[in-house]
Amino acid sequence: MKYFIFLLTFLFSFKAYSGPDSTAVKPRYAVAEKLATAVRFKTISALEPEDFKYEEFTNLHAYLADAFPLAHERLQVEVINNYSLLFTWQGQNSALKPVLFMAHMDVVPVEAASEEDWLEEPFAGVVKDGFVWGRGTMDDKYRVVTMLEAVERLLEQGYEPERTLYLAFGHDEEIGGDEGAGKISEHLQQLGVQLEAVFDEGLAVAEDVIPGIKEPLALVGTAAKGSLNLLLTVKGEGGHSSAPPSETPIGILSRAISRLHQNPFKPRLTSTTRESMEILTERMGGKYKFAMRHYGLFKKKILKKLAEDQATDVLIRTKLVPTIIAGGEKNNVLPRQATAVLNVRILNGETDQTVIDYVRKVIKDERVEISQYGVYTPSSPETPTDTWVYDALKSTILHTFPDALVVPALFPGATDARHYSNLTSNIFRFAPQVVNRESAQLVHNVNERIGMDVLEKSIGFYTTLVLNTCGSAEIEHLADLEDAFYGIISE
Ligand SMILES: [Zn+2]
Repeated sequence: MKYFIFLLTFLFSFKAYSGPDSTAVKPRYAVAEKLATAVRFKTISALEPEDFKYEEFTNLHAYLADAFPLAHERLQVEVINNYSLLFTWQGQNSALKPVLFMAHMDVVPVEAASEEDWLEEPFAGVVKDGFVWGRGTMDDKYRVVTMLEAVERLLEQGYEPERTLYLAFGHDEEIGGDEGAGKISEHLQQLGVQLEAVFDEGLAVAEDVIPGIKEPLALVGTAAKGSLNLLLTVKGEGGHSSAPPSETPIGILSRAISRLHQNPFKPRLTSTTRESMEILTERMGGKYKFAMRHYGLFKKKILKKLAEDQATDVLIRTKLVPTIIAGGEKNNVLPRQATAVLNVRILNGETDQTVIDYVRKVIKDERVEISQYGVYTPSSPETPTDTWVYDALKSTILHTFPDALVVPALFPGATDARHYSNLTSNIFRFAPQVVNRESAQLVHNVNERIGMDVLEKSIGFYTTLVLNTCGSAEIEHLADLEDAFYGIISE
């Protein structure tokens, strides 16, 4: 059945691209169909390598080659580490540092327990009621498809970039990205490439976030928090519970956790969050604007206010929370060991070592062993915003979302972009879609779907971003191009 769909899609896309008049307006549903087909490949990221269905990735590659023939013919296409893709669109001017647009082809699994809550089968790739439905539509296949669509249309129009553009699509972002984005980055490093900028997913255009601000906020992730797990272990003598010693592993461990709870990390405004606050309070006006303009005077009050809400508290400090605790098996036996795992989200400017030093100082008990556990992701450097490339992104966002207020902000999670921090200091985490409280719930959840209007906007966004970052010798020509695209997109 899948082969049949595959064949149909191939014939369909072949037909759509066959005419000599390459500027002909394509039917509006073509991109939605391309995304729907991409959804049907079950490119699920699994923690165990034997659960990875690698042929789904290979089949997706083949499909993309059929759906985007010009991009595959004119750009250099490299398969990195068997399942990730790197496209190189060579620029005219080799003195300019390339830019890299990135997305990921893998998706999170569908929980078996949730399957019946889906209104459409998660991997059926259904286009219905103005949406493309299915796992991976929002995160992150629409970006793979719309970036390629933007490039395809630019190629049809005869556009030639001044600056080299890379499209990098990883295959394991959802489980850390070491094998995909990590290997693409290594590959570029071996070639001696330094990048001007990297554009990844992350934050988006948010509606109804802050009372008092009517405009949607285009939040650009210019920094990302780090993460770390610590294992606390306390050992004891064991024995019968009828004659316990004055202190036991569980008692000592409990006191350690309680001390950490009572002594949170110090709050501080990073330069990213300070910039967000400055832009937002200017718009809010009144006492907020006044306080932020006199930050030195009101620092304590501002930090206190931000600490009151858990959503803003995470922006001003490293957060630590116990997530696993274990000790004891029988109700009359003293355990010989008690352990706890602490999950730590590290604020920019701190490291695993400064976190461990602080935890040790707060616990103040030699009997509690502290060790690292699992993967450590350092907090990212903070991307500067006084650069031409930030301005190019900002004007691209405003071109696509004219009502938005563009705000650099801290991204509380991690994306594949972290693998590229050795190649550039300009990393931007922004997805060109509007999210509200309702649609934000759909990511990694049941009934994941994306509106056709989002797809159109996204193609427009990436087209403009290519033009704004990769440039062209003929500016007039650029204006024509933009008109041509917006004509097609808003048809
Ligand atoms: Zn993602």
